[in-house]
Amino acid sequence: MKLNILIVEDHELTRFGLKTTFEGVDYVNTIFEAESAEKALEIFDSNQIDVIIMDLGLPGMNGIEATQKIRSRKKDVKVIMLTSHNDEKEVISSLKAGANAYCSKEINPQRLISVVQSVADGAAWFDPSIAHIVLKASCQAQVQEDNSAENAKKYDLTARESQILKLMTEGYSNMEIAQILVISINTTKAHVANILQKLEVDDRLQAALKALKNKIV
Ligand code: CA
Repeated sequence: MKLNILIVEDHELTRFGLKTTFEGVDYVNTIFEAESAEKALEIFDSNQIDVIIMDLGLPGMNGIEATQKIRSRKKDVKVIMLTSHNDEKEVISSLKAGANAYCSKEINPQRLISVVQSVADGAAWFDPSIAHIVLKASCQAQVQEDNSAENAKKYDLTARESQILKLMTEGYSNMEIAQILVISINTTKAHVANILQKLEVDDRLQAALKALKNKIV
């Protein structure tokens, strides 16, 4: 399948260089161009786009905000963030916003052509110069995970409730949770009601989302 690529870059010469890079590449169908995030969203909303090459520093809405907006559209698209500097915060923010890859503008064109293809195939790709930042961030995420017991305490959850909340985030029903923990369905329901109350949410979906967001489980 051939790819429709959207290049988002305000710097005209860079945009031209990117477009030229992808012209004639065998996996490319159509190349779209936008000089701003706002324009990119318009193009994205009215066309089938497979891969977006997104400049981070744009006038108006920046590449990170644009990526968040694109992710909120719930369409299947890969976003490759392109930037001239490797600021740790920007790398992490880009990934959190939902970028699939992060490239330095110093990347050579042939390399970028292969990065676009592998990202389109579902791979994540990080410029070697920023790989250490990503690794460090994932180590920090691990530390946060270790803090989950502490976070559970903040909500005054008992060990049993934390256990049930974790199963809820994994999508198990009350009946399944009862079977897994070998407790009655009524006991399970009572625990779930307590969990909803302690987390101050209305339903199990909200509870699961809150648990994941606040790293309680
Ligand atoms: Ca720029």
